[in-house]
Amino acid sequence: MRDPIVVIGGGIVGLSTAFALTRLRPDVRVVVLEKEAGLARHQTGRNSGVIHSGIYYTPGSLKARMCRAGREALLAFCSEHRIHHEICGKVIVAVDEDETSRLEGLLLRGRENGVSCRGISREELAEREPHVVARAALRVDDTGIVDYPAVCARLAGLVTEAGSEVRTGTRLLAVRQEKGARILETDRGAVRGRFLVNCAGLYSDRVARLDGVDPGLLIVPFRGHYYELVEPARRYCRHLVYPVPVPAYPFLGVHFTRRTDGRVECGPNAMLAFAREGYGLWDVDASDLSETLRYPGFRRLASGHWRMGVTEFARSASRRRYLAALQRLVPDIRADDLLHAPSGIRAQAVLPDGTLADDFVIRRSRGALHVCNAPSPAATAGLEIGRYIADQVASELD
Ligand SMILES: Cc1cc2nc3c(=O)[nH]c(=O)nc-3n(C[C@H](O)[C@H](O)[C@H](O)COP(=O)(O)OP(=O)(O)OC[C@H]3O[C@@H](n4cnc5c(N)ncnc54)[C@H](O)[C@@H]3O)c2cc1C
Repeated sequence: MRDPIVVIGGGIVGLSTAFALTRLRPDVRVVVLEKEAGLARHQTGRNSGVIHSGIYYTPGSLKARMCRAGREALLAFCSEHRIHHEICGKVIVAVDEDETSRLEGLLLRGRENGVSCRGISREELAEREPHVVARAALRVDDTGIVDYPAVCARLAGLVTEAGSEVRTGTRLLAVRQEKGARILETDRGAVRGRFLVNCAGLYSDRVARLDGVDPGLLIVPFRGHYYELVEPARRYCRHLVYPVPVPAYPFLGVHFTRRTDGRVECGPNAMLAFAREGYGLWDVDASDLSETLRYPGFRRLASGHWRMGVTEFARSASRRRYLAALQRLVPDIRADDLLHAPSGIRAQAVLPDGTLADDFVIRRSRGALHVCNAPSPAATAGLEIGRYIADQVASELD
């Protein structure tokens, strides 16, 4: 039997890739290696559970195109496999003059990206979200919510049913090339592969380097702190309520999200994490932190944005400050309406010149493909990213 295609990472991008490969090339075997004991334990299982509409992204970018196509594919997948989801729509609200003018820009961008969205009156806002106070608001019809870990579980089931394999508890440690094949050393022995697809999320830059590829960027972990509303306070948010994002950052600002199980989450904010998988505020991994601090791109980023960094850290450490950000949208919320909820960490690529990579980054080398920047909306876009990668792999195999 020929060597399999090996996919590193059991998040939504890796599993979507494996699924797409089994559909496109039923003649090849795929092996997914995931270091954790279960699937979707990092970004995919710790995100906001939102099916993004595509309103925010630069028209023509991979994010814009893949978000729209991935959304369609995700909705069809969820309907076919009876996975809980809902297209509930969202509102984006402006609370001051500056935000109101940026909201107009967002509306135009959304239309350019083919998103169903429109400005709504204060009366309509009050009808949809009675506790939200704003100067102006947009209604985005195409936004929804879904249970991403359930999507991953189904994808893994389909990959296995197709005769391929998903191995959890298997961490990639090193890569060697040998006579046209790759030998992937793991903590559970070696695996021979004819093609490598790196979907390792927070470690994607390191996996690329293990394979001898310089990705030309560093993954910097940005921690997102969440709260959850106590049950009686869930009435403050019917669906999804977002602020107008600050254009300098790829993060959307703390928002309110109703989850598929009825809980309402508030967040996430975005602060530098001191460990790539350090979910606690004070979790530190000395080697992760020193790698970030030594990286010239991070130093350039920090020199221009340190104030923002301090504000976000303070917001993570202080419930009062976090509450103030939430009260800009929903003034009725009180400190004792908030419960701590698990945090998430975004894998955000930073370029040597100090810019945050704005688009998805997929690097191709001989016999391998490395997904080096797949932050939000990559969960929404996952099935489309997987389809795109499977096409690329198939063309190289042919
Ligand atoms: C706080 C937060 C909120 C977000 N909200 C949304 C949202 O609402 N909607 C949306 O569309 N997107 C959202 N995103 C973005 C989205 O979750 C990610 O873009 C997406 O999940 C990326 O998937 P992935 O498969 O690339 O990464 P991951 O889900 O992180 O998967 C990577 C996997 O690789 C494994 N791995 C790493 N190294 C190795 C190794 N050496 N060997 C074996 N396995 C390895 C990891 O254990 C991990 O399971 C959010 C992200 C965060 C963090």
